Amino acid sequence: MKVSEMLVPTLREIPAEAEVVSHQLLLKAGFIRKAAAGVYNLLPLAWRVVKKIEQIIREEMDRQGGQELMMPIVQPAELWRESGRWDVYGPELFRLKDRHGRDFCLGPTHEEIITTLVKGDINSYKQLPLLLYQIQNKYRDERRPRFGLLRGREFIMKDLYSFDYDQDGLDVSYNKMYEAYNNIFSRCGLDFRPVVADSGAIGGKDTHEFMVLAESGEATIVYCEGKECGYAANEERAEAVVTGVKDDTPVLELKKIHTPDCRTIADLASFLKVAPERMIKTMLYTTEKETVAALVRGDREINEIKLYNILGCVKLDMAGPATVLAVTGAQTGFAGPVQLKGVRIVADPEVMTMTNAVCGANEDDHHLVNINLGRDFEPDIVTDIRLVKSGEPCPNCGNKLLEARGIEVGQVFKLGDKYSKAMNATFLDENGQARLFIMGCYGIGVTRTMAAAVEQYHDERGIIWPAQIAPYHVAVLPVNHKDEHQFGTAESIYRQLVATGVEAVLDDRPERAGVKFKDADLVGYPLRITVGDKGLAAGQVELTTRQTGDMKMVPLDKIVDEVKSSLLGLGYTGL
Ligand code: ATP
Ligand code: MG
Repeated sequence: MKVSEMLVPTLREIPAEAEVVSHQLLLKAGFIRKAAAGVYNLLPLAWRVVKKIEQIIREEMDRQGGQELMMPIVQPAELWRESGRWDVYGPELFRLKDRHGRDFCLGPTHEEIITTLVKGDINSYKQLPLLLYQIQNKYRDERRPRFGLLRGREFIMKDLYSFDYDQDGLDVSYNKMYEAYNNIFSRCGLDFRPVVADSGAIGGKDTHEFMVLAESGEATIVYCEGKECGYAANEERAEAVVTGVKDDTPVLELKKIHTPDCRTIADLASFLKVAPERMIKTMLYTTEKETVAALVRGDREINEIKLYNILGCVKLDMAGPATVLAVTGAQTGFAGPVQLKGVRIVADPEVMTMTNAVCGANEDDHHLVNINLGRDFEPDIVTDIRLVKSGEPCPNCGNKLLEARGIEVGQVFKLGDKYSKAMNATFLDENGQARLFIMGCYGIGVTRTMAAAVEQYHDERGIIWPAQIAPYHVAVLPVNHKDEHQFGTAESIYRQLVATGVEAVLDDRPERAGVKFKDADLVGYPLRITVGDKGLAAGQVELTTRQTGDMKMVPLDKIVDEVKSSLLGLGYTGL
């Protein structure tokens, strides 16, 4: 393609609305334009990247026996009522009515549609397993659409659904997808990690998220420093190791002390000269059913996702001042588990190892010292409810855990019979008995993956596309477009490259060389060929690798081979 004929509207300035690098660079380099909050035009360069990512996904899905189909984006509300999600999905669901007043939604995901489809057409165990997928626009009216393509309201997703005879079958399908996802993100050239993730209150089901490591990631992951161990988890889900052990320090007499204005652990620590590890942090939460007190050691933080899952509630909020006053008789900051009436107490196991601890007295400006389990309080539930931080021991091998930020680009999930049960989707087994399909679902954010690649690979000049998903492989630049020899040579190289299957562009614009260099760096072509006077005098052109900045002079008759081997060196295997 000739650059003069391409729609690549590069910008000189970074638009003010863009907070993260991928949003800034995709706008600036002319890949995307906003149509509405969280809704974007994908311009030709972006569309090429998307198609490449999709192609990698297709190959890996098909390799595992996946079959591609296309389901409707417009979905009837009845199916969502049947699964029970019409009411629980909330404002994220784009809802609409047809001319007859019937309810529909735009698909945020397709469990309802596919379960109905399979229920209608698959009757026998002999037709299983079944892996069906599509690559399509998805719609979610996100509360905060932001970061460009990273969190859109319209975005492209690959979603595959597996249907199996039983749990063992599901395990096989799940492992296939897990392997496929590893292949996909490796082939996209990304630095990523599969992490154990939270599966929500329905619980007990396996799920992994695939995280691209990047500073701008919204998720925190913890992973084991030990290479062989491989433990990695979303912070929401990371298991805590109980480090304390109950010692045999003599139990001292419970005392109430005056602690004016000590509402936080830090206030109290400096006032009492006691380490936070010796305190019990008591946090009050309300659910739709009850108020609960959650206890963790003073230096720890509560993991609300873990707490939410344990309580099996629909809503979990920190208790407001009125509730705190009603339950404890004191203002916020002085709650404690002793004599706390009418609320369930959930304690982290570490709290169970503490002797002569400090906690709130349920009285304004007062705390208790020397509180002890059994004598002074008894929790209703003891379970891991705290956040795990870097530096703590790995739950798998005991080595140190490290922390990183990640962008979730994909998730694999064992649904089990959640949807088949709700929608009564069964097949007949070998004895003619009806059985529920055992399902899994597996998503990849295609447009998010593109943005994640930019988050990972860029510098101050622009994007540095991994060769496997770059919109084009090489840009050919005549330094002086008016010089016929230069221009003719550039054009000839461009033609030869295209003829051998290399995706090349020729920057034939009547622009200064500096402008062309700048744009090539901004767009992020993996390779650049510069055709200038000095080189040509010696029968050579300059080949530059965007990623490393390496530059070498290559004889004209070698340039095509050199480009091919450079692409191979960059991980591109398509030639
Ligand atoms: P998140 O937690 O980031 O909101 P999710 O867990 O709700 O995502 P899934 O339902 O697992 O997302 O969807 C599968 C994949 O679709 C995600 O792994 C992600 O890559 C992509 N995705 C989800 N929401 C968006 C969005 N708003 N914009 C772009 N991609 C998205
Ligand atoms: Mg997810």
